[in-house]
Amino acid sequence: MHTEEVTGPVPSERLERVLTAPRPTPYLALDPQIAAVRYDRLAEAFAPARLLYAVKACPEPSVLAALVARGSGFDVASHQEIRLCLDAGADPALIQHGNPVRGPGDAAAAYALGVRRFVTDSAEDVEDLAEHAPDARVLVRLMVADSGSATPFFGKFGALPEEASRLLGAVRTAGLTAAGVTFHAGSQQTLPGTYADAVALALRVAGQAGLRRPELDLGGGWPVPYRDPVAGPDAFADAVGAAVTAAVSQGHVDGADLLLEPGRALVAEAGVLRARVLRVSRRPGVDHRRWVYLDVGRYQGLAETEGEAIGYPLRVPGRTGAPGPAVLAGPTCDGDDVIYRRTPCALPLDLQAGDLLDLLHTGAYTSSYASVGFNGFGPLPVVVAGATPGPGATPGPDAVEPPGVIEGS
Ligand SMILES: *Cc1c(COP(=O)(O)O)cnc(C)c1O
Repeated sequence: MHTEEVTGPVPSERLERVLTAPRPTPYLALDPQIAAVRYDRLAEAFAPARLLYAVKACPEPSVLAALVARGSGFDVASHQEIRLCLDAGADPALIQHGNPVRGPGDAAAAYALGVRRFVTDSAEDVEDLAEHAPDARVLVRLMVADSGSATPFFGKFGALPEEASRLLGAVRTAGLTAAGVTFHAGSQQTLPGTYADAVALALRVAGQAGLRRPELDLGGGWPVPYRDPVAGPDAFADAVGAAVTAAVSQGHVDGADLLLEPGRALVAEAGVLRARVLRVSRRPGVDHRRWVYLDVGRYQGLAETEGEAIGYPLRVPGRTGAPGPAVLAGPTCDGDDVIYRRTPCALPLDLQAGDLLDLLHTGAYTSSYASVGFNGFGPLPVVVAGATPGPGATPGPDAVEPPGVIEGS
């Protein structure tokens, strides 16, 4: 199944230009055009499926605008994310509230902004939607296996098959539209077969609930070639297509209208996190390796290095010396603020305090995860390459977006 392999590209020329200018570190250099290219690639592989970008992966306005220009829809989890999408020009009809954890007032507020698509996974939430989102299209989220994922959900979301089938019935009884089924097979999901199994289950459930041609929302999880090659979009599209065909030939459904909610896959390669070495320490008796401390760590955007789930590729722009092993750690006084202990870090032996270090493919789940100031280290500034692509856009100077742009306006 892994016929087509995609390896990580080097950062784009536009990103390299951003990195050429001297700036205070750390910061995230971001090229929204890469997100647009990744969007096109995934959309082509799964055509005619609709893509709903999962905003939480990188909620920068420039990325949202680039994806609006491509015709993307959006998967959101909060009022603020809806506002960000609308501010970027998104059509509310293409916004899906995909977070079944809605508090009192959340569904009504989303509805008031024009959102008509919701994902649910509990009877309590269906009641809430019936009251506050009367003509909504509702998808029921199934719990599925997430083996092959680097960052699984551990059962936080989704209903088991029988309950999901009941919920689809409850949605219909409540006068809402039971549009279909969805799942999330875990992020950085490298196995096409895991999606195929989830599709088989989801279409069986939809069929049991009487949906002959359901919407089938495949969720996110589409993987990124961080340090290792991953199967390309075509391999995943083939696996999903075969599973849909099988469900049709088994009579569960007559067909399915596909949606995808990519997050990481659209934006990871659009970012480079530029950091600086604070210190290189020898630690006699503790570790034979050098410890390299950076001015960025777990709390300035590298949350996904928890458990070393994601191993970003590293490069040291100013040094060409022979490499040796190192432990990579963040700047704070927290014992958890170690970036890589087990993940190999071969860094130049002549590396010194003050040197630059780049973490590649860091466009996803970094700036949005940074703390507001743990230990006095602020959020991660984002430097956007050039102007937002789109009709009539002209290349402009790099724009520094203020940290914390999640603030709606
Ligand atoms: C986070 C999330 C996504 C995006 O996941 P990726 O693994 O980044 O593609 C999609 N859908 C939902 C509901 C999510 O919570």
